[in-house]
Amino acid sequence: MTSLPRNPSPKKLGLVIDLDTCVGCHACAVNCKEWNSGGQMAPLTDRDPYGAKPSGVWFNRVHSFEAGDGPTSRTVHFPRSCLHCEQPACVEVCPTGASYKRAEDGIVLVNEDICIGCKLCSWACPYGAREYDEDVGVMKKCTLCIDKIYNENLEEIDRVPACVATCPVNARHYGDLGDPNSAVSRLVAERGGYDLMPELGYEPVNKYLPPRLRQESAGCTGAKAELDPPANGDIANPFLRWVDRILSR
Ligand code: SF4
Ligand code: SF4
Repeated sequence: MTSLPRNPSPKKLGLVIDLDTCVGCHACAVNCKEWNSGGQMAPLTDRDPYGAKPSGVWFNRVHSFEAGDGPTSRTVHFPRSCLHCEQPACVEVCPTGASYKRAEDGIVLVNEDICIGCKLCSWACPYGAREYDEDVGVMKKCTLCIDKIYNENLEEIDRVPACVATCPVNARHYGDLGDPNSAVSRLVAERGGYDLMPELGYEPVNKYLPPRLRQESAGCTGAKAELDPPANGDIANPFLRWVDRILSR
C-alpha cells in the first residue's frame, strides 16, 4: 500500500469549474485528449472510435442533464476529471506505489512504469476519475497537464492546463487553492464554491461553482434551489442525486 506525503507543502494546485457558465461544448475534453495524446501520457487509447460502441481513455468527460421540470427546468453541464484529493484512497490502496500524491503541489499522478493494472485505485475513487488503458494495461488519469504547467519552453501565459486554455466561456480556472489569497480561492469564496460529495472525506482540491439564480422573467423564477448543493451533502438534493448516479456507473 502507498503512503501519502508526510510533509506536504501548503500548495494545492487544482481547478475551479463554473457550472453557471459551462455550455457543454466538450472543448476542454477534446483539448485534454489532444495534449495528452501527444505527450507524457500517450497513447490515450481509442477503440472503435467511429463505430456503434466507441470507448477510450478520456481524462476529462462532460455530462449534461436536465434539472427541474417545466418552465423552471434548466440544462446543466458537468465536467468531470480527477479532483486531486487531499485524502485520496486511490493512492493509499495502490500496492506498488505507482499512484502517488506529490508533496510539492498536491498533484496526484500514476507512474506507468510500475503500475500493474490491478484497478484497485479505480475502485477506490468515488468520482470515476481513473481511466484504464486497455491497450497498454495501465491506469491513467488527469495530470493537471504537469508537462505544460511547468514547461519553461512555453510563455508563462500558456502554462495552464489544456482544458483551461481552451474553454471558450472561461468556465475553468486553475491555480493554488492552498493560498487563500489566490484568484481561484477568492473566486470560490465569492461564489460559494463547494466540494463534490464532501461526506466521503476525500477532501477534493478541485471546486465547483453552482449555477447562479436566474433573473425573474416571464413567470420563471429559476431553478437555483434545486441545483444548489446543500452544505451538509444531503443526498436528497436533486443535483447531488444526479451526480451520485453518474459517478456510480
Ligand atoms: Fe484519486 Fe479519484 Fe480523488 Fe483523483 S478524484 S485523487 S483519482 S480519489
Ligand atoms: Fe464547459 Fe468550458 Fe469544457 Fe466547454 S470547454 S464543456 S464550456 S468547461
